[in-house]
Amino acid sequence: MKTIAVLTSGGDSPGMNAAVRAVIRSAGYFGYDILGIRFGYKGLMEADFVRLQSSDVSGIIQRGGTILKSARSEEFHEKEGRNRAAENLKKAGVEALITIGGDGTFRGATLLAQEHGINTVGIPGTIDNDLIGSDETIGYDTALNTAMQAIDKVRDTADAHERLFLVEVMGRDAGFIALETGIACGAELIILPEKLTHIEEIKESLNKVLKVQRRSTLVVVAEGDHTGGAIELSKKLEPDFKQYDMRVAILGHIQRGGSPTAHDRVLASRLGYEAVNAIHNEKSEVMVGVINHDVKITPIKETFGKIKEINFDLVELAKVLR
Ligand code: ATP
Repeated sequence: MKTIAVLTSGGDSPGMNAAVRAVIRSAGYFGYDILGIRFGYKGLMEADFVRLQSSDVSGIIQRGGTILKSARSEEFHEKEGRNRAAENLKKAGVEALITIGGDGTFRGATLLAQEHGINTVGIPGTIDNDLIGSDETIGYDTALNTAMQAIDKVRDTADAHERLFLVEVMGRDAGFIALETGIACGAELIILPEKLTHIEEIKESLNKVLKVQRRSTLVVVAEGDHTGGAIELSKKLEPDFKQYDMRVAILGHIQRGGSPTAHDRVLASRLGYEAVNAIHNEKSEVMVGVINHDVKITPIKETFGKIKEINFDLVELAKVLR
C-alpha cells in the first residue's frame, strides 16, 4: 500500500488542522497509509514521524494552530539537509509528500522532488493570501475576520476619545488583510505595501480626512508598508499632527490564531481531498487551489516569483467610502 506523508510548514494559519484532517480521511478513502511529519522540514530531517489514522483527527476541524506543529529550518536550504530528509522518507516507505504552507515551503518541496524523485503536492496555507493559483489561501478568511473584530473594538475606544488610531495588521509583502479589513471596518485610510506611498502623500490624505468632523479616525497599516509599519509611521506623522490624540495598536499574532471560519474549513477540506486525489493521479510538483469556485491544479513552478495582485478596484472603493 502506498504511503503518503503530510507536513505543515512556515507560518501557521487557521484551517491547517482542517486540511490535515481532510488529507488523512481522503488518504483512507483512497486506501493509502499516512505518515504525519511533526515540525515541518525540521521534523522531516529528524524523522519526527507519527503514523496517523482517521480517529487521530477527530475533533480538530475547528481548532486553530496545527496538530503537526510547524517550524522554519535553515538546514533544509542546504542540499545535505534535504538528502537527510529524503533518506528518512525512503526509509519510512513514503512515496509522496503533501506540504501545507506558503511559497517557501513549496520551494523546498520542489527541490526534494527534483533531487530525490519524491512526488510532492502543495496546499496553500498562509494568512497572507500571497500565492497565485488559488483565489484564497487557507487561513486568510479567518485572519481577516479576526482583524476585523479587533479593529471594531479599537474603533469603539477611538470613538469614545475622538482619537486618531494607526492599526497595524499582518502582511509583510502583501496588503490583502489590510485592504479588506480596512474596507470592512470603514477605515479612513489604508496603507499598503503594494503602493509606494510617500510620507507627504499620507500626510495630505490624512489632512483631507481630518477636515471632516468625525468621531474618530482609523488608519489601517500593513506591517510591510514602505514607511516601516505603524510605529514608524506614527513617529513620522507626530510632528505635523500633534493636535490629535494619536495612538498605535499592533494586532500581531492574534491574527494567526483562533478557530477557522466556515469558509476556511470548507476550503481546507476541499484542498486536502484534492491534494490526495492529485497524488492518486500521479501528479507531482503541483499546487492545489480554488479559482472562481472550481478546483485548479497549478504546476508549482508557475507560482514562483509571481506576485498576486491586490484588487485595485477595492483600493479606489475605499477612497470613495471613507
Ligand atoms: P509563510 O508564507 O507563512 O511565511 P512559507 O512556507 O513561505 O510560509 P518560509 O519560512 O518561507 O514560509 O518557508 C518554510 C520553510 O521552507 C523554511 O524554513 C525552509 O526550511 C523551507 N524553504 C523555504 N525556502 C526554501 C528554498 N528556497 N529552498 C529550500 N527550502 C526552502
